Amino acid sequence: MTPETPVANHFIRTLIREDRAAGRHGGRVATRFPPEPNGYLHLGHAKSICLNFGMALENAGTCNLRFDDTNPAKEDLEYVEAIKADVHWLGFKWHALLHASDYFEVFYLCGEKLIRKGLAYVCDLSADEVREYRGTLTSPGRNSPFRERSVEENLDLFRRMRAGEFADGTHTLRAKIDMASPNMNLRDPALYRIRNIEHQNTGDAWCIYPMYDYAHCISDAVEGITHSLCTLEFEDHRPLYDWCLDQLELTEDPSLTAPLRAKGLDMPVSRPRQTEFARGNLDYTVMSKRKLISLVQDGLVDGWDDPRMPTLSGVRRRGFPAAAIRAFWERMGISKQVATIEFSVLEACVREQLDASAPRRLAVLDPLKLTLTNLPEGHEEHLDFANHPKDESFGTRVVPFSRDLWIEREDFMEVPAKGFHRLVPGGEVRLRGVGIIRCEDTVKDADGHLTGLLCTLDPTTRAGLPGADRKIKGTIHWVSAQHALFAQVRLYDRLFNVANPDDDSDGKTYRDHLNPESKRVVHAWLEASLATAQGGEHFQFERLGFFVADSVDHCAGHAVFNRTVTLRDSYAKGK
Ligand code: ATP
Ligand code: MG
Repeated sequence: MTPETPVANHFIRTLIREDRAAGRHGGRVATRFPPEPNGYLHLGHAKSICLNFGMALENAGTCNLRFDDTNPAKEDLEYVEAIKADVHWLGFKWHALLHASDYFEVFYLCGEKLIRKGLAYVCDLSADEVREYRGTLTSPGRNSPFRERSVEENLDLFRRMRAGEFADGTHTLRAKIDMASPNMNLRDPALYRIRNIEHQNTGDAWCIYPMYDYAHCISDAVEGITHSLCTLEFEDHRPLYDWCLDQLELTEDPSLTAPLRAKGLDMPVSRPRQTEFARGNLDYTVMSKRKLISLVQDGLVDGWDDPRMPTLSGVRRRGFPAAAIRAFWERMGISKQVATIEFSVLEACVREQLDASAPRRLAVLDPLKLTLTNLPEGHEEHLDFANHPKDESFGTRVVPFSRDLWIEREDFMEVPAKGFHRLVPGGEVRLRGVGIIRCEDTVKDADGHLTGLLCTLDPTTRAGLPGADRKIKGTIHWVSAQHALFAQVRLYDRLFNVANPDDDSDGKTYRDHLNPESKRVVHAWLEASLATAQGGEHFQFERLGFFVADSVDHCAGHAVFNRTVTLRDSYAKGK
């Protein structure tokens, strides 16, 4: 477990510390992360995960992973497994793994209790009629003609709803609150609806399913949650959250939670408080599950874990370390102010992490042959290279060096541009870790295309000799051609080419803004030591960026690397 060191106070951190200090909830802190298993987790979810798990860790509390699986139509076990793997990968351990469907019997008993208290009724209005009775933001709603049913009649109908006597849509259980409330959520909201459909956890045991607002507050209470942290869109729902819990008095009424104890689920019951914070948004991406699902289903990306996706499985495969994501959200803080953060800020956190943790290697992505003509044919050396320039604990490795090398094509210019300090005809440059070379001639094919360079190595500039320190402007990297490892390298870039792909005010949708250059595959030559890289291992390819061995396709005999991020922000202003 590696929580980030808190960098700044925020209102939720402060609130929880005050609650603890005041002994509220018996001094306990219990949070939960409640995903709906209808898609993969994304970077926005990571904000909520880091907050919920982080607050628990900081306060010697607990955090549950609760699948909010009250909606039987949309869920899938693939998502459940992916969500568990992602939370783990982010570095968090849940206290208990629970499902809202664990509480179906409790929700039902709560429904009967509200009916007995005269606070809920079975309504026969159709969905359209309910909408029409609800009124608008500027006009009050009208009472349902079924609002004054007797307790006995309501209990009988609710039991028959449960028993499966009615078709979908014919009845709902509604809270009896206030059809004139300025808060639409309080205009007799539905608590239960009929869905004659199987549920992946409870099978065909139920044909009535609770609504989110009703199920969520009860779930929090029966799990002993003290601080229910959620995003701002639930602010207007908080009065309903509180209404349900105040009317149900779960802490005073053990009969409501008896079904859980009978199942061996013995948890403290609490009166939780909901607190809202702003969603995390990033530019140049979309994060609604609906849009992410359509990118996958329509084949616009290569699956949920496509390294261009903002999903946690995508950025993991891209090579973003979990620690960078945690540090990013910790630094961004928590507030009620909605803001979109530049993706490049996250990339800066990724660079910072990888700069410290990734060993250096040599790799050439766009190869040009370079021959050192003053070395004998078959010349071979094994040079010692440090694995990290700032951290000796990374040790050293052996890099083979020979007469024929690959260098980066862009490190040579036949007609040099102003300020170009690398290799030019007749010019000198330092070969990383070797010495200074001079370009004596170029080699071209019949069509005049450059195919190689003929150079000489100044023997007085080799490592250890007095001439090694001779000043020279440029240094270029290389790999030995005869020893090099052939690899596929995937160069990823932003998936969208506009900052806000969600903005459809100009009639275009996010799908019109896909960046056609977001994935480029090249064939590269890597230094020999990379032959033993394992899928998921991070490296810096010197001068090129941070790369990761692809966790799916990389294997011995078929090297595949993904570019995680370039060394510098290539989009930075004034590049
Ligand atoms: P959608 O509305 O696209 O189906 P959702 O974001 O509501 O998805 P949930 O599975 O309900 O998805 O989310 C689980 C938790 O993650 C919720 O508490 C939600 O508030 C939080 N969450 C989702 N997106 C973000 C985000 N961008 N920033 C912070 N928290 C988020
Ligand atoms: Mg949701």
